[in-house]
Amino acid sequence: MSFEKLNLHPAIVKAVLAAGYTSPTSIQEQAIPELIDGHDVMASAQTGTGKTAAFMLPALHRLATPAKIHGRGPRILVLTPTRELALQVSGAASKYGKFLPRVNVVSILGGMPYPLQNKLLSQIVDVLVATPGRLIDHIERGRIDFSRLEMLVLDEADRMLDMGFIQDVERIASSTPTNRQTLLFSATLDTTIEKIAARLLKTPKRIQIASQHAKLDHIEQRMHYVDDLTHKNRLLDHLLRDTTIKQAIIFTATKRDADSLADNLSAQGHKAAAMHGDMTQRERTRTLTGLRQGRLKILVATDVAARGIDIADITHVINFDLPKFAEDYVHRIGRTGRAGASGTAVSFASSKDGIHLKRIERFTGNHFEFQSIPGMEPRTKPRFSRSDNRSAKRPSSAAHKTRRSWSDNPNTRTSPQGHRGDKGIEFGQPFGRETRKRPLRDSKFNHQDSFARAK
Ligand code: AMP
Repeated sequence: MSFEKLNLHPAIVKAVLAAGYTSPTSIQEQAIPELIDGHDVMASAQTGTGKTAAFMLPALHRLATPAKIHGRGPRILVLTPTRELALQVSGAASKYGKFLPRVNVVSILGGMPYPLQNKLLSQIVDVLVATPGRLIDHIERGRIDFSRLEMLVLDEADRMLDMGFIQDVERIASSTPTNRQTLLFSATLDTTIEKIAARLLKTPKRIQIASQHAKLDHIEQRMHYVDDLTHKNRLLDHLLRDTTIKQAIIFTATKRDADSLADNLSAQGHKAAAMHGDMTQRERTRTLTGLRQGRLKILVATDVAARGIDIADITHVINFDLPKFAEDYVHRIGRTGRAGASGTAVSFASSKDGIHLKRIERFTGNHFEFQSIPGMEPRTKPRFSRSDNRSAKRPSSAAHKTRRSWSDNPNTRTSPQGHRGDKGIEFGQPFGRETRKRPLRDSKFNHQDSFARAK
């Protein structure tokens, strides 16, 4: 399938080809015809599937025809959970709309000064990309005229739900025309999302994009079992010596940890900075610009940066702390391997992470073999049982990639991890095969531990 066959306006096809895309992704191929036909659509698609273009191209296609109603208000409204994602969506609108006669894209985000936003909203707006809380403020102040609104897009609806924005989203929807076209994108379509969709969408076409596995295929995923913070710091120090790193994002669980780790790395001479939700939008934008322009090599961030950062040179993602939710894992590692490149994701799991690891394995269908760096093996054994991973799916091709080594750089080469005495374990074998060369001494690991994984 080619973009030309999708019946999009030629100026949009030209922009897409100029962006270097040769053919539509699966979500684009399925959603664009339905959207051009005017249907509501609900789609389960993760970041990395090309979902932004899937809704933005038909949205822009609408703009190629003059508005039926006279006014200044937006014709397209996209709601996103985070400011970073909103900025990415606005960037996509400008990129794909650059050959259309005039497309005014405005972002209304929390943390930005009101006077500037008031000014932006006083002009003619074609595409408005907003985070829900700040948009509600403007709606209440009577600053937005939705009479021209034709299309409402709820991007990452599950995330908006998690973040407590759904009431705001529903209020915003209720202030838009009922004859609008409504699109809902979500990583998962569970019952809560279904209920929201039932309230906001009219007989939507459903699109299910297979799974996140395909899009993780190009990302090498590695998992290290760690004893404690000191062990994490030693491993991190080692990993950061990898000369194949162009740029990296290190994720921490808390804002404080992001700040202190960024400070430590800077003190060690790394070009590092922190990014988290306590920073002003201006600081966050400055940091992202630094990363984009290559002045920064390492970003230490909380999950605020897990979505919406699209920088081709991010070769590595390091989960210094494992995320609590599997979706966040997928979003975090999706910061690498952008624009057709391959990427590497390394995660640290401690004894407290058993449940998180299990969730990630279930969600991604991967099974992680712990790996270790010679001389930096953990002193302790995982205290969690991984027996119920037996019910996990067989690994996808992505899962096999989890067992490749960190890089071919001999300085950072790693080996699959055993604990002391576990050196006989072989890795890289498919599920269901005996992977032990000799019996493990510790009976706990004979049956339960996934290093052995004798199914
Ligand atoms: P998204 O899922 O919207 O976050 O998009 C993920 C990445 O895929 C972005 O870097 C897009 O620029 C890129 N992309 C979107 N559509 C295509 C396509 N048809 N071909 C190649 N890359 C694409």
